[in-house]
Amino acid sequence: MKEKLEGIKKSGLAKIMGAKNVTELEEIRKEITGKKSDLAEVLKSMGSLPNEDKKTIGMLATEIKNKFAEELEAKEEELISSMSVLDEPIDLTIPGKKVNEGALHPIIQMRNDLNEAFLSLGFEVYSEDDISSEKYAFDNLNFAKDHPARESMDTYWLEGTEDKSGTERLCLRPHLTGGSVRYLMKHGAPARFVYPGSVYRNETTDARHERAFYQYEALIVDKDISFSSGIVMIQTILEKVFGKKINTRMREGFFPFTEPGYEIDMECLVCGGKGCKVCNHNGWLEIMPGGVIHPNVLKSAGLDPEEWTGFYINIGLDRLVMMRYGVDDVRLFHSADLRFLKQFK
Ligand SMILES: [Zn+2]
Repeated sequence: MKEKLEGIKKSGLAKIMGAKNVTELEEIRKEITGKKSDLAEVLKSMGSLPNEDKKTIGMLATEIKNKFAEELEAKEEELISSMSVLDEPIDLTIPGKKVNEGALHPIIQMRNDLNEAFLSLGFEVYSEDDISSEKYAFDNLNFAKDHPARESMDTYWLEGTEDKSGTERLCLRPHLTGGSVRYLMKHGAPARFVYPGSVYRNETTDARHERAFYQYEALIVDKDISFSSGIVMIQTILEKVFGKKINTRMREGFFPFTEPGYEIDMECLVCGGKGCKVCNHNGWLEIMPGGVIHPNVLKSAGLDPEEWTGFYINIGLDRLVMMRYGVDDVRLFHSADLRFLKQFK
């Protein structure tokens, strides 16, 4: 009887070891531990054994039963963990499904291109919060106390700060220049950096104007900045962005934070200078104000205007994108209309 049980144990364990999958293992479980198994037969026939053998054989049979249970469980775990998650074999010849990939917004693409162009000229890229204050948006920049840009007609002031002043009167930044002064206060001079971001104006929208738009400011502060080096910088950047020489012209412009200030125009690429809706039918488009930084602005930044000079430009990113793609309405870029935006992948 003892030998018979040893035989049952040996063949049972061998079967468990050889199971190739969970279904097969389940069959083996029935075969070696079920009611009709050899082991069950042995247990049934124990009644006819002499009393002294009953105990030994009984213990051995229970030991084998436990061993089977233990081994069956271990094998099951092993089979499950090695199972493939795929029910069917993979057919590598089936063509894949096309991934519907997105793309960067054309304004962001333009910003990245400008960043690259300026980085190659040794500029740093700087950014700041969209919420500014009266001090940084106007006071530091030499805006007269009664300058119309300070009015709520032009600037979005934040509710609850109307009766405050200076750094406590908050607004959505109407331009980036305030942040440039903050940069200079922190890092000192010499400096050359660009400063891209959204700005906000309370104005009526039309084909060339939006309430929120992207600006891109570049600033050089050094001991001997000549006006002509500023012009060369503008032409280099436009050439890098458009991949060809771009005609520009400068007109006198007045900005509180420059002296002298200029309006820099580029020839309209939508109509090739003939005149269209985008360029207001005059062939030129105003793309950036610029000029020599006003001494008072340098003073706000803690710099001595006798020692330092600076050149500043503020590029209208939206307008450059309109020129790049020949788009004649700026509002389309902010419309979130995918039919329009998908064209710029
Ligand atoms: Zn035009």
